Amino acid sequence: MSLQHTDLAVETLRPGDDGYDAAARAFFATGDPALVVRPRDPDEVAAALTHAVRHDLAVSVRSGGHSPVGHSTNTGGMVIDLAHLDDVEVLDPGRRLVRVGGGATWGRVAAALDPHGWGLTAGDTTSVGVGGLTLGGGVGWMVRRHGLAIDNLSGARIVTAGGQLLTTSEDEHPDLFWALRGGGGNFGIVVDFDFVAQPVTTVHFGSVAYRLDNPADLLRRWRDAMRVAPDELSTTLVLMPTMPGAPPSAMVLLCYAGEPVAAVGDIDAAIKPLLELGTVTETSISERRYSEILEDAAHPQGLRLVARNTLVPTLDDVVIAAIDRLHNTPGPTAIAVRSLGGAFGRVPTDATAFAHRDAEAMVVWGAMLSETATDAEVERALVPWRAVAAHGTGTYINFQGSATADDLASAYPPATYARLAAVKRVYDPDNRFALNHNIEPASA
Ligand code: FAD
Repeated sequence: MSLQHTDLAVETLRPGDDGYDAAARAFFATGDPALVVRPRDPDEVAAALTHAVRHDLAVSVRSGGHSPVGHSTNTGGMVIDLAHLDDVEVLDPGRRLVRVGGGATWGRVAAALDPHGWGLTAGDTTSVGVGGLTLGGGVGWMVRRHGLAIDNLSGARIVTAGGQLLTTSEDEHPDLFWALRGGGGNFGIVVDFDFVAQPVTTVHFGSVAYRLDNPADLLRRWRDAMRVAPDELSTTLVLMPTMPGAPPSAMVLLCYAGEPVAAVGDIDAAIKPLLELGTVTETSISERRYSEILEDAAHPQGLRLVARNTLVPTLDDVVIAAIDRLHNTPGPTAIAVRSLGGAFGRVPTDATAFAHRDAEAMVVWGAMLSETATDAEVERALVPWRAVAAHGTGTYINFQGSATADDLASAYPPATYARLAAVKRVYDPDNRFALNHNIEPASA
């Protein structure tokens, strides 16, 4: 007889209930959990956790549900879906201090902050959750201007594995607050995050497309342009998948986020070098409200995304040659190289659990395989990627579609990992939060 879990006083969906099938699905994965619960406040979060512990259920914590490894659903366990914890509240207008629910989406946050003339550097997609993106780091369109999402975090309230609600900040449980800034969902369920928003109304946003005669040359020119670009400019160079019959192409996606009223001359001077990188085939740049540049996304049915990334300290010619070779490999793959530096790079390496502050760029690679692709086929697709990854010195967990021991070692340098494991031992000694890029508790 299956357990009905009717003794839990929290909104619950069980197999067979209306809405269960949709609730069992996450962006990249479909599961068959024993129950999906939707708590409305920290007490209900604690009640759900206590129930999971009592029945020894594996726990998936879901904010926006976009985990690249499919961790936000499971089979046979409990999904704690934080969708009701999505308030965006202004705590102190003078300091632009805002409290954002752990289950809010970035689209909701952007829309709520816009009337104040504020924004938060975060993801580029409306449906991505504040929970997952922030706990991994959070890289967005203003990364060179305002750093990662975690660099703008001033506190967080969390329900720990023991069901306790803790307030964390630089002054309260600072070890835990440090770990939350990059250590992922390992330490408990964050019910809300306190951020200092940035003043931003409009940005100059868009793309420049190029004919791709020589990918290595384009990459070199873009790298050189970004090395002298102002922090206001964040860009990503995308080498588009080569389609039969179509000429190879590339584009630079760009966002210039200046002062609330940016000088036209400064914007033009920042963007002009990007118009001179190669043969431009199309330019589409306009002044838009920051809240409107976030886009919707859907995962194509029947396909499996294999996504990997690596952080490179120097985008030197050896790395560029490796990217060029990867791009020449036939197949439905795309490569995006994101420029870092600026405010991102001025945060000390040990200030947050995201340690790779020396990276000049992040190389992100994705291949679309059939949903039925075998592990062997995935491995084959990964071979050319590994030649690029060999040049990286770190991994960003939020863009990493795998969670192996190697991924963990690459995401967290030894000193960072040791510190995370020690924090884990204090706040989740039984590793109740294991469906994530999992940090094992340090042994006593
Ligand atoms: P979820 O699957 O809900 O959460 C992921 C994991 O985070 C969970 O398994 C859990 O371990 C943990 N978690 C989530 N919420 C909480 C919480 N409140 N408390 C404790 N643990 C929690 N990343 C960027 O940095 N920048 C981008 O621009 C960006 N764009 C993206 C666009 C798309 C279309 C996709 C699919 C992903 C994108 N990402 C981006 C990656 C994104 O950061 C990760 O997918 C992240 O895991 C998504 O967070 P989520 O809350 O939506 O996912």
